[in-house]
Amino acid sequence: MISTKYDLVIIGAGCAGLSLGYQLSVMGAVSPKTLLIESRLSYENDRTWCFWEDKANPFNSLCTHQWKELLIINKPSEQILETTFDCHSSPYQVLTGGTFYQHTIEAIALNSNLELALGIDLLKEPEYRNGLWYLKTNEGSIAANMVVDTRPVGTPAMHGATLWQSFSGYEVECLSEIFDPRAAVLMDFCPSNSEYTGFTYLLPISKNVALIEFTSFGVKPYAAPALRAHLEESVKKFLNATDYKVRRSEYGLIPMGLKPLDDDKAQHTQGEDYYVRVGVNAGAARPSTGYSFQRIQNWSVACALSIVSRGVPIAHVKDPYLLQKMDALFLNVLKNNPTLGPELFFSLFSGVNPRRLIRFLTDKGEFLDLWAVIRVLPKVLFLSELLKTLIAKLKN
Ligand SMILES: Cc1cc2nc3c(=O)[nH]c(=O)nc-3n(C[C@H](O)[C@H](O)[C@H](O)COP(=O)(O)OP(=O)(O)OC[C@H]3O[C@@H](n4cnc5c(N)ncnc54)[C@H](O)[C@@H]3O)c2cc1C
Repeated sequence: MISTKYDLVIIGAGCAGLSLGYQLSVMGAVSPKTLLIESRLSYENDRTWCFWEDKANPFNSLCTHQWKELLIINKPSEQILETTFDCHSSPYQVLTGGTFYQHTIEAIALNSNLELALGIDLLKEPEYRNGLWYLKTNEGSIAANMVVDTRPVGTPAMHGATLWQSFSGYEVECLSEIFDPRAAVLMDFCPSNSEYTGFTYLLPISKNVALIEFTSFGVKPYAAPALRAHLEESVKKFLNATDYKVRRSEYGLIPMGLKPLDDDKAQHTQGEDYYVRVGVNAGAARPSTGYSFQRIQNWSVACALSIVSRGVPIAHVKDPYLLQKMDALFLNVLKNNPTLGPELFFSLFSGVNPRRLIRFLTDKGEFLDLWAVIRVLPKVLFLSELLKTLIAKLKN
């Protein structure tokens, strides 16, 4: 039974909510009295997170596999172009959702200041009255000094994004050992088309188990059934008639270049320092890639510290100005030239020093890393897109 007054309520106990709960739990007795409310009744192994190794990541040791070489394949015409991206410096790692959920939930249960309540739905927007936030749930009302809201609100129609990353995948188990678990395929591009930049990735976890996922970067978000035919085609191609069974399937939709959440901010004009929106639809996703997991981890460490030291939760920090502009320009180029997507990504992975590119992709890029990225991209295309954006801004 949940009590009614807390220092902090975290709405949604998915990746962001549990990450913050985990960081607070390891702080011990100084952590605030916290309730995490989560609408699901139980957790399933519903996703896998991939990211470049970062020694500061508390979940490094839980990763089930890593790759030090990644293959990128492009077929601009009859010829096949392949490049191997050497990531020995920061291997590409995989963490299963099931492992993450279990580990964080166990840690939260060890700290008596924290409580995780499943099957609790927030029914309407939190209200601020007399210095407290009131939350109406299916199990009654709760009051809190601080609220961290991780609900993935914002459907495409509500807020929009420059592009949507839609993906659908199977974890397959084959009867014979056909994979090389040391090397993954990061991007195997499908033929260019005017709707989206599409590719498949193959992440072999053992000689006979792999995750195969079809992904599109497009203006339109696609539901899982719309991606199925491409996924089946990729499975057929990679498995080459080998017998297999699907152990698990997953689907995701990630905004790339999210428009600001103006509507939501307007609803919280009072006490807004004590209410923050975070998570994949509130700035966690890196606009140009959709990568969110590491950014959520970095945020959760900073937010837990801020809560404990100042009594104030914090949202995701904005990317540095130059990075914001580079990501926005890259997304606009992709949006207006989806047929050129394969060539652009191939140039990045084949032309930029891996250490520099990984620093750029993981928000740690310095000026020379950003320059190395700019150097390999087609100048005329990017300058003309930049010019178009400037002219459009002047007209408004
Ligand atoms: C299949 C999949 C694979 C992904 N793979 C990667 C990857 O490889 N690398 C990467 O960096 N990112 C990846 N992402 C993107 C991102 O890391 C994840 O989406 C991540 O889970 C986002 O965390 P979140 O907390 O914002 O949202 P979620 O994890 O979705 O958590 C939000 C929680 O809020 C709960 N909730 C919603 N409404 C209410 C309500 N009214 N009341 C109470 N609770 C509510 C939901 O049940 C949910 O548990 C992936 C996403 C998906 C879907």
